Amino acid sequence: MPDSTTWHTELFIDGTWRTGGDKFTTVDPSTGEPLADIAAANANDVDTAVTAATTSLRGSWAATPPSRKGALLARLADLVERDLDALAALESLDMGAPLSVARGLFLPNLVASLRYYGGWADKINGELVTQDGYFGSPAHAYTRREPVGVIAAIVPWNAPLMILGWKLAPALAAGNTVIVKPAEDASLSILRLAALVEEAGFPPGVVQVLPGRGPVAGEALAVHPGVHKVSFTGSTEVGRRILRNSAGNFKRTTLELGGKSPQIVFADANLDAAIQGAAMGIFTNQGQVCAAGTRIFVQRPVYQAVLDGLRAAAQAQVVGDPSGKDTTMGPLINSAQRDKVLGYIEKGVSEGAELIAGGRSADGPGFFVDPTVFAGTNDLTIAREEIFGPVGTVIPFDDEAEVVELANDNDYGLAATVWTTDLSRAHTVSAGLQAGAVGVNGWSPLAPQLPWGGRKASGVGRELGYEAILANTEVKTITVIL
Ligand code: NAD
Repeated sequence: MPDSTTWHTELFIDGTWRTGGDKFTTVDPSTGEPLADIAAANANDVDTAVTAATTSLRGSWAATPPSRKGALLARLADLVERDLDALAALESLDMGAPLSVARGLFLPNLVASLRYYGGWADKINGELVTQDGYFGSPAHAYTRREPVGVIAAIVPWNAPLMILGWKLAPALAAGNTVIVKPAEDASLSILRLAALVEEAGFPPGVVQVLPGRGPVAGEALAVHPGVHKVSFTGSTEVGRRILRNSAGNFKRTTLELGGKSPQIVFADANLDAAIQGAAMGIFTNQGQVCAAGTRIFVQRPVYQAVLDGLRAAAQAQVVGDPSGKDTTMGPLINSAQRDKVLGYIEKGVSEGAELIAGGRSADGPGFFVDPTVFAGTNDLTIAREEIFGPVGTVIPFDDEAEVVELANDNDYGLAATVWTTDLSRAHTVSAGLQAGAVGVNGWSPLAPQLPWGGRKASGVGRELGYEAILANTEVKTITVIL
């Protein structure tokens, strides 16, 4: 168990740690026992943070040369790497991901984002624009990419540090200041990161962390006239609310809202790899992944083989204590999420899907759900709605045109996976899918260089890659009449 004397539970505002008036409790999802009481920011705290963020935006951070901003991001990456084991253990304890996932995926991804955008900080250029002059006079015109301003980063609980990295690193590289609102269920690792921000030497007010309740602290950030952009990852419902709340001062928004992503297995695929990858897409992080590949379309000649393979893969999962060496699946985040997932499983059975594996909640304390596989159709509730738990539905298909139509027949459009050895098919099917990102022969490739985000109900805008530099800057056109 990580040393609780090193935990921060306060608000990090303007470079100082402050106790808020109100508190909330975070719980260990493996046991259901309380872990820590954490300060809950209110609207006054948000006001104070916005003032500090505005002061540093115009002052100390604006005066920090771009290469120095890059060096600070690189320094933060070094500190995260130094404390990687402690950060991973804390995150795993707080939100239930197996330690191997926190250590092997979440934290290295954060380090990579910090380094990648640290490299961008002194390479964000405008353009010299060719034009026809101004009423007969020649003109010299160019664009500048300027910071958007004060950015609220509202983060979910399913991979707190990794997802925060996607928001924080490009925002800082582009010269913005950032106020972070972690999720109620998983604030501890982000608060620990705030201590590293302090140690790295970022000026006060550049990065602030306000743990607190969504409807209080999150809402206050989304409506605040001093916040210029909200970068949000979470539920579709809250995303819609943030969009409405942002209208007051026309905030820029990036919304990453989850999905119901298809994985398409053609009969010509390398079946071992496809089964292993499809299982990864269903069970990683207990299925609490926005890109979870939970609709597995399988071409009829290999349908039974894939179903059998996924049954075996479900049975091979090791569900238990997230810190266990062999654990592949920990608990779900809280009792409400467990009950929601079990409700979907019941609905799958009552709507006539065939239960192939799992379907139960483990006895004893903690919020565990067995890895679950159904055989079914695309119109079942379990195949239409995001479950955010370890539940996949396997659906047969006959040909390319049919499967593209089935895959696109869903409200979401975040990610998709195509399993095939046919090169032409790989490209034509990828082009036909309504998704922000398609992986061919690999589930959900993720890297700081690769733009990430969704279509349809999966969200607005893109994170990562150069797209995130664009999303974190405003273009200004300057025309000088000569
Ligand atoms: P949520 O949308 O309620 O919370 C996400 C973040 O938004 C949290 O920090 C929360 O405090 C904040 N928030 C809540 N209400 C707010 C408001 N009115 N204004 C501003 N911020 C607010 O999501 P959740 O409860 O953490 O999870 C619910 C569902 O969301 C999940 O079951 C899943 O379907 C989805 N989800 C998706 C992702 C993803 O990666 N796309 C991540 C987590 C959850």
